[in-house]
Amino acid sequence: MDWRNKAAPLKEIFKDCVLCPRQCHVDRTQGQLGYCRIPAKITMDCALPHHGEEPPLSGTCGAGTIFFSSCNLGCLYCQNYQISHCTCGQELDSSALAKVMLDLQRRGCHNIEPVTPTPQTPLIMESLLLAREQGLKIPFVYNCGGYENPRIIKMLDKMVDIYLPDFKYGVAEDGAAFSAVSDYPRYALDSLKEMVRQVGADLEMENGIAKRGVIVRHLVLPGKLENSRAVFRLIKKEISTSVAISLMSQYTPTDKVRNHPQLGRRINEAEYNQILNFALDLGFDNLFIQEVSEENLLPDFDCENPFK
Ligand code: SF4
Repeated sequence: MDWRNKAAPLKEIFKDCVLCPRQCHVDRTQGQLGYCRIPAKITMDCALPHHGEEPPLSGTCGAGTIFFSSCNLGCLYCQNYQISHCTCGQELDSSALAKVMLDLQRRGCHNIEPVTPTPQTPLIMESLLLAREQGLKIPFVYNCGGYENPRIIKMLDKMVDIYLPDFKYGVAEDGAAFSAVSDYPRYALDSLKEMVRQVGADLEMENGIAKRGVIVRHLVLPGKLENSRAVFRLIKKEISTSVAISLMSQYTPTDKVRNHPQLGRRINEAEYNQILNFALDLGFDNLFIQEVSEENLLPDFDCENPFK
């Protein structure tokens, strides 16, 4: 089957969009827009070797990160809001995006990592399949917000090598308050189960570089420790403690939430350590951990690797 036919079932979903659990049921091929405000086109912000991801992804030469405009979550505090809250990137067709992927490989990147792929998945996968035909060999990393439709994740079987989902909320009310979704934990869990079914719970590495598996990211939010504990409890109860978890400390208030009563400050070391110890006590031992820093850690794409 050629790459066009393999991507066709995914592209059909644009006509009655249920690519994410918001299930807007709009026909994006006719210019109708759902919550993510992106039509059925690729809208890319930038592509670059990214040295700030977890060490098995960034390695020595960088992850091959491709930032796409918009997102299906729209979190109040998004650390990357300049890209994810806007729809103003460059429009590309699938052939052009395949060339971007091949160029990242030529530059030595260890993988191809779209951020955030969810609303643009059909055309990103079409580009991936075309790039594979043209010689793309490096792993494909699906870096998403965790609020995924498990039926769509199932359709990505055998195309994704590494899943890198967030698990933002174990407490549904926090998802409602900060990301306008009432059912985040259920969708995140069911999607994660499907991801683990496809690529396994254990991270497969070669010379320190991830080749296959799952890394779950959890960003600790200020004062929201019960939310974080709930994330670990759910993953232990419904999946496994062997899943690799990246416990992120770098939350920094953006201008949008500078005066927010809960989100207007960074987390402190005691908060981070409470969650780290809670995870260790539950039996999670495959953790990527960070130091808690006083610095402003909003992303700077030439930034130092915060996991060092
Ligand atoms: S991808 Fe966008 S249009 Fe489709 S269901 Fe999600 S938010 Fe709605």
